[in-house]
Amino acid sequence: MAKYSIDLQAGKVKEDEAVSSVGETIVGIDLGTTNSLVAHVVEGKAVAVAGPDGKSVLVPSIVHFNSDGTTVVGDAARGYLETQPERTIYSVKRLLGKSFRDLTDVKDRFGYRIIDEDEDRLVKVAVHSEDGRERYYSPIELSAEILKTLKARIEQELGTAVSRAVITVPAYFNDAQRQATRDAGKLAGLDVLRIVNEPTASSLAYGIGLTDEDEGRTIAVYDLGGGTFDVSLLRIEQGIFEVLSTNGDTFLGGDDFDQAIVDHWRTGYDLELDTPELRGGIRLLAERAKKALSTDQQFTGDFDGKVLNLTRGEFENRVRPLVKRTLASCDRALKDAGLGKEDIDHVIMVGGSTRVPLIKQQVSDFFGKQVNDSLDPDQVVALGAAIQADVLAGNQQDVLLLDITPLSLGIETVGGLMDPIIPRNSKVPTKVGRKYTTSVDGQVKLKVAVYQGERDMVADNRKLGEFTLENIPPMPAGIPQIEIHFYLDADGILRVKATEHRSGTEQSVTIKSQYGISDEEMALMLMDSLQNAETDMAARALAEARTEAKNVLLSARKFIRQNESWLTSGQVHEIERFVDALAKSVEGDDKDEINHRLEELNTFTTPLAHEALDRNVAAAMKGKGVEE
Ligand code: AMP
Repeated sequence: MAKYSIDLQAGKVKEDEAVSSVGETIVGIDLGTTNSLVAHVVEGKAVAVAGPDGKSVLVPSIVHFNSDGTTVVGDAARGYLETQPERTIYSVKRLLGKSFRDLTDVKDRFGYRIIDEDEDRLVKVAVHSEDGRERYYSPIELSAEILKTLKARIEQELGTAVSRAVITVPAYFNDAQRQATRDAGKLAGLDVLRIVNEPTASSLAYGIGLTDEDEGRTIAVYDLGGGTFDVSLLRIEQGIFEVLSTNGDTFLGGDDFDQAIVDHWRTGYDLELDTPELRGGIRLLAERAKKALSTDQQFTGDFDGKVLNLTRGEFENRVRPLVKRTLASCDRALKDAGLGKEDIDHVIMVGGSTRVPLIKQQVSDFFGKQVNDSLDPDQVVALGAAIQADVLAGNQQDVLLLDITPLSLGIETVGGLMDPIIPRNSKVPTKVGRKYTTSVDGQVKLKVAVYQGERDMVADNRKLGEFTLENIPPMPAGIPQIEIHFYLDADGILRVKATEHRSGTEQSVTIKSQYGISDEEMALMLMDSLQNAETDMAARALAEARTEAKNVLLSARKFIRQNESWLTSGQVHEIERFVDALAKSVEGDDKDEINHRLEELNTFTTPLAHEALDRNVAAAMKGKGVEE
């Protein structure tokens, strides 16, 4: 995977950049694939909030739809996974910001239906209610249900309304996925002040990145949850958390450990698991065994009239190949970042599955250093989000966290060229303006097509949207002054504004990416740009030569029309000969030939252009009655 950066900055905060904290807590939310949680800072310390029963701070990321359309979320929804799987939605984070096309490979893994019906191409979930009608929910709406539950939980804890939050996302989430997360927050009644990368939040939870001492440190965040694994390498450079590389496996986690135990028992005890109830029951027992073996050496349980045993050694032998796979990902992440294990200063453990002693030991052996595991691995991300929220509230002095954009943003210019306006790795929020003009006389419209990517030709990049600046007063080519502004906010939401200054005409658009590019695709786009750098340069040179040639052709023809009165027929004939040769070369794709023809025409017409100018000046002076 190519090296790319997204992320955050910890530096000095200016007074006016802090969000006022008056009257209201800003909360931190970890919207997870398996579990979600909300945390806040109390007397300088981040704490996760439990439900009214005081039991667990984890809210299972599960939404169940009752037949009347009402929902239950979390633990209350979990039981329906077995009994009403088609109406019980889990792992919705895997769907956020994705199109049906993105999900073709995985859609059959879910117990509910994923359909492709919507014009915005986002996935929806079909829920059959008892009145026989299907209802469709977007991943944004489903995530909002989980966020509403978290919001209610913290409001109950604080006894006041909460409307502002920081929400975390994986480092590899692209703009569409970040936007979808933000929209889910909005739908749940939350103003999402910032989207933060999970590994960055994890570092903050351990206090890494909060002081100048951490300058230049490199951090590995090993995150093994229930169903996903990822490792991110971060470096704190001039106060910025830079994501050097990420790697992982979107279908590897604690669930696979449970399955390994089930397989072990099934063969060892000759178990018949021929009903869904038995299969569900054995998985639950396997998970209990796994958790017990994180502290004990031995587990014994009853299943369907049989006594099942499992030792820690047997469990470890079963899961060792899975652990190995995660370490191979760590290796790849190091390679992509161009780092050795010895370059890593801190290793942070995140996700419930890192409680398995074998994992802690293997990861610390791999990096050759003790891992950070003093915080609850299920809570690390949320605690870090709460710290970030507290920073935004202005409660922590001297810390500011900013993002960086992972891919360049730009517009299409003549010849299909990409003109990057905000280059990748720019710190955001940012605002960049650039001046353009028209290429044709009397042009009254200008199409502004916005692209994301690193290739020189827009056709190779990803189109985010387009709009047309209309009502430009007709003027000769090159005269209108059109300014295009890109405003990119801290969550990668882009607003593009075009203004024609002479007339004051203005048009703007907010780009909301319609469907996602996966992390692999993003990496591919970057790799692509490197691998195609040479062909891209050639393509760009050709496109530029063509554009210039077309402009020169237009002015040459205009020149003949405007100066017919004094040009000799021989001169006109000669210009036309050069014009035809140039026009012919533009049809081909030999850049040198076009440039050669351009030069030929220019050499011949330059003295004539001077003469035309002299004549015009003379005529103008005469017209004004100035004496010769
Ligand atoms: P997460 O997605 O981070 O909430 O992780 C949940 C995963 O952690 C599930 O697969 C759990 O079975 C696993 N897990 C939770 N507690 C333990 C434990 N004590 N030992 C091993 N795995 C655990």
